[in-house]
Amino acid sequence: MQRKPLIAGNWKCFKTLSEAMLLVRKVRKGCVSSVDILVAPPFTVLYAVSRELQGSPIEVAGQNVHWEAQGAWTGEISAEQLLDAGCKYAIVGHSERRQYFGENPGTVNNRLHRCFETDLIPILCIGESLKERESGQAKDRILRDLGHCLKGLTAFCVSRMIVAYEPVWAIGTGLTATPEIAQKAHFWIRDWFNGKYSSEISNGLRILYGGSVNPDNIADLMKQPDIDGVLVGGASLDAKSFLKIIHYES
Ligand code: PEP
Repeated sequence: MQRKPLIAGNWKCFKTLSEAMLLVRKVRKGCVSSVDILVAPPFTVLYAVSRELQGSPIEVAGQNVHWEAQGAWTGEISAEQLLDAGCKYAIVGHSERRQYFGENPGTVNNRLHRCFETDLIPILCIGESLKERESGQAKDRILRDLGHCLKGLTAFCVSRMIVAYEPVWAIGTGLTATPEIAQKAHFWIRDWFNGKYSSEISNGLRILYGGSVNPDNIADLMKQPDIDGVLVGGASLDAKSFLKIIHYES
């Protein structure tokens, strides 16, 4: 099955309004239609970025989403609020949320359920720590996490989601997984979906790689059969480098 590549930029806690506008205008000008593109700006600029991108092929994502529609949840954001601000996607379970803000497979599962109760498409992040990789537990960790995070989700829901394999040791460290290491993990993930759901779902699933992707390593990563795109942090903050990643084929 042909899966269209997706290049996603996670801006994390960077960019003021004026900086965001500058960046997104440049990306819009240089984008191509051979890949899907999305950006995940901070909450404060979501609406402005969505408006600026109206009529362009670039989509917008939230960096998180709460499991309730509304309520006394200081610091959180709801699916309705993200949709209202023009988002189509939400990142769920990013390792920085798990490492620093107490996210766990249970809360990730709740957030995923909420996405499917609304029209948000989740990008589920999973990946092993350095310790788990070095002790040979990477596969077990990834597949166990998948099982917990997807608990109770139907095949129909899962057919709409995106998975990002993000080894924790590669995020923001400058250490990229080799294309071979990444491919192997992507294969484990695809194979797990095949066993748990169906070959149709597993073949249609887009699995992104994330972890220090840059203009120099993107082409080799994208040559791997199970890598369908990338989730880019640091290198998405600069229009020039993000556009080079988007244009990885040229
Ligand atoms: C990320 O934030 O998901 C990420 C992969 O960051 P970086 O590209 O900076 O490693």
